Amino acid sequence: MLQSVLQEDNYKHKGLREKLVDLLAEKGIKDKKVLEAIGKIPRHFFLDTAFEHRAYENTAFPIAAGQTISQPYTVAFQTELLQVKKFDKVLEIGTGSAYQSCVLAEMGASVFSIELQRPLYDYINTFFFIKKYPSIRRFWGDGYQGLPTYAPFDKILVTAGAPYLPPKLVEQLKPGGIAVIPVGGGEGQKMLRIRKNEDGSITEETFGDFMFVPMLEGKR
Ligand code: SAH
Repeated sequence: MLQSVLQEDNYKHKGLREKLVDLLAEKGIKDKKVLEAIGKIPRHFFLDTAFEHRAYENTAFPIAAGQTISQPYTVAFQTELLQVKKFDKVLEIGTGSAYQSCVLAEMGASVFSIELQRPLYDYINTFFFIKKYPSIRRFWGDGYQGLPTYAPFDKILVTAGAPYLPPKLVEQLKPGGIAVIPVGGGEGQKMLRIRKNEDGSITEETFGDFMFVPMLEGKR
């Protein structure tokens, strides 16, 4: 059962969360705003009650529809690569539990998040904590299409493993914008950071190996 009732965030949760933030800093996360956001958001609200007591471990957990909430280090790492600034317009692919969306919103971004799986999209409509962040707009749809109506975006963050760089996402990035996307198949992905230069050309950097659930094609 996912949690949909009002939860408490007590001193014990806060203590464990501080330790998680220290661990992320030890593991090399430097962006203070990323660490602060993770330090503020009660991750246990986002998990199935069965995993609540483990919410501040650096571990991914299953959520509904066979999907996962990413490992905190992965969330921190991707967010740091994205160089989020206040008022950035960020497109996120893969809302999932909406934890990452809340981290971005806590950092002052205006978030547009797409989820492919209808049950997950519907569940978040009933999730009390999301109401704290009116700057998050969610959409049910296929991330490969992006959101042409709201484009262009300052930043694009893909939180599922993409077999290739989706051309429409590159199109919807502003000149000067940054996209962070794990690219690769079922055996794992390389974390790519793409910068769109002012002349429309693309600069690519690679940052290590990750394992995400696949970015699927077509509405489910
Ligand atoms: N950002 C999420 C992590 C979710 S895991 C969090 O913080 O919890 C990846 C998510 O991407 C899953 O919810 C999956 O359903 C979704 N997904 C997979 N393919 C997609 C696609 N083509 N478009 C949008 N979402 C997709």
